[in-house]
Amino acid sequence: MPKVALHPRLLLAYSQVTDGNMDFRFGTPKEVRQHRQQFFATLKQNYRDAIEAAQIHFDRLLVLNSENGKMWRGMNVTGVDGFVTTEPSVIMMIRTADCVPLVLYDPAHHAMALLHAGWRGTVKGMATTGLARLVKEYQTDPRQVLVWLGPAARVCHLTFPEIPSEFEHELWQPYLKINFQSVAVDLIAYIKATLHQAGVKKSSMVDSHLCTVELPELFSHRRSQADGSPAGRLAVVAKLK
Ligand SMILES: [Zn+2]
Repeated sequence: MPKVALHPRLLLAYSQVTDGNMDFRFGTPKEVRQHRQQFFATLKQNYRDAIEAAQIHFDRLLVLNSENGKMWRGMNVTGVDGFVTTEPSVIMMIRTADCVPLVLYDPAHHAMALLHAGWRGTVKGMATTGLARLVKEYQTDPRQVLVWLGPAARVCHLTFPEIPSEFEHELWQPYLKINFQSVAVDLIAYIKATLHQAGVKKSSMVDSHLCTVELPELFSHRRSQADGSPAGRLAVVAKLK
C-alpha cells in the first residue's frame, strides 16, 4: 500500500493488486467492501467515510466543504471526475487502471484537488480545469502548487491502432508518437506541459513514473484486455490533514 509523500499535510495513497479490486463493477459488493475496509484501515481511516467520484471521463468537479462534505460522506457522486476542497474532514477517493490520478496541492491555502484524468478527460482539459478551480475557489497561486502524477498507462503503452479524432488538433502533435502500426500518446507530458503553461513550476511536479500496463502489481485495463490479467481498479485516496 504505497503512501505518497507529496507534502506532510496531505494523506495520499494508492492501492495495489494485493489490496484487491476496489471497484464494484469488477467484484461482488461483499468483496469490494472488504478490500476497501482493509485498505482504509491501513490509512487509519474508515472506508464508510470516503466520498467517491463516479467518473464519467469528463472534467466536472465538485467543491467539497464542511456542509456538503457531511451530506456526501460515504457516497459515490454522480457526474464528477474529481474534487477540490480545503476541508480536512473529507476523505476523497477515485478509482483508476490506466487513467491518470492527479493531485494538485496548494500549501499556502491548504487546498487540494483530486482528479481522475483519463485520455478523454485530459483532452477536455482536466488538469488545468482542476488548477483553475483552485484559483477560483481559494485564490491559489499556480506557482505554489505541488502536483502528483500517479500510476497510469504511459507513452510506452498508451497506443491506439489509429489516431483518435480527439487528438487531431495540432496542439496534440508534439505528444503523438507515430509507429509502424500504431500511434502512442504521451498524456503525461501533455498534462505537465499544460500545467506548466498555467504557471505550475516544473520542479513542483512529482511524477510516480509508474506504468500500470507493465507493472503486474497495478491494475491495468489495457493489460487485462490483452492477456486476461484480472480486471479491477485501484483506489487513490486523498485527505488534508
Ligand atoms: Zn508502459
